[in-house]
Amino acid sequence: MRAAIYRGPGEITVEEVPKPEIESPTDAVVRVTHTAVCGSDLWFYRGQSDREVGSRVGHEPMGIVEEVGESVRSVEPGDRVFAPFLISCGRCEFCRKGLHTSCVNGDSWGGDNGGGQGEYVRATEADGTLVRVPDRHAHDEETLRSILPLTDVMGTGHHAAVSAGVGEGDTCIVVGDGAVGLCGVLAARRLGAQRIVAMGHHEDRLELAAEFGATETISARGEAAVEQANTLTGGGANHVLECVGAASAMDTAIEVCRPGGTVGYVGVPHGVEADGIDVFGLFRKNRTLRGGVAPVRAYAEELLDDVLQGTLDPSPIFTKTVDLDGVPEGYRAMDEREAIKVLVRIS
Ligand SMILES: [Zn+2]
Ligand SMILES: [Zn+2]
Repeated sequence: MRAAIYRGPGEITVEEVPKPEIESPTDAVVRVTHTAVCGSDLWFYRGQSDREVGSRVGHEPMGIVEEVGESVRSVEPGDRVFAPFLISCGRCEFCRKGLHTSCVNGDSWGGDNGGGQGEYVRATEADGTLVRVPDRHAHDEETLRSILPLTDVMGTGHHAAVSAGVGEGDTCIVVGDGAVGLCGVLAARRLGAQRIVAMGHHEDRLELAAEFGATETISARGEAAVEQANTLTGGGANHVLECVGAASAMDTAIEVCRPGGTVGYVGVPHGVEADGIDVFGLFRKNRTLRGGVAPVRAYAEELLDDVLQGTLDPSPIFTKTVDLDGVPEGYRAMDEREAIKVLVRIS
């Protein structure tokens, strides 16, 4: 089969690799039809985080089950399924408390499981990991495009909103206008937020944020942005969604959080170790920091229901579509911010 491979900073290739096979009774092999390039893939693409050269990439697979191990019960060959960015068993202590990203039987995509950006993956723990799309929606291309973000960014934006405690009638601020931030806006609206202030640096993305439900947008940078947000909200919001991960975004999120408020953070921390978090700023204003890597599997059914009912549609974040051979071009387009998020349509 063919799959995207990391060959060093700025270099993704599509190569012939061994096709994953069933190895254990809990496995399923999925023929990937749709997947995506992620903002988090850009860290290694830009050489800002380490990744083994020659490793398979991608972690947002959707496709058709081709074969299942003998103990798999929840899916069968021919089913349309999608999978979160991590594998989880659904039965351990952490899966049972909705913290699937800490699953003791969990795994990541890559290695001989196949990365998500390739023709096939092996889902170990298929029953806990794969989410089945009802048959009547299984081949509706438009619906599938709306479901695909549930593999990662929509669940992650939702986790930011949940962690920040967003509820009916609330005012919240979303820091970041990437795919996760935009999904954070959708999630906040879905949870009933009345005022949603979106902060970012790109006018086109902030326009999409407004379409998604942001009531105000801020495109200024640094101190000016913080000042604007605090002026607009009369001293900060009780619920702040940090959807970037960079140290500067974390600082901004804390500075626009109202005393006693909560920052829900889901961006993969980057540079925060070096620059430190303003713990005194948290302490001084009784601000709470909650969140972490999003257990998107915990939210999959709930969000899928809304997509199928037509009340949730994150698909506008896909501003470019490529085929498998176009994956390197997809990385380039996201790196150069020509595309918000790239959908990969494989077959
Ligand atoms: Zn991702
Ligand atoms: Zn588990």
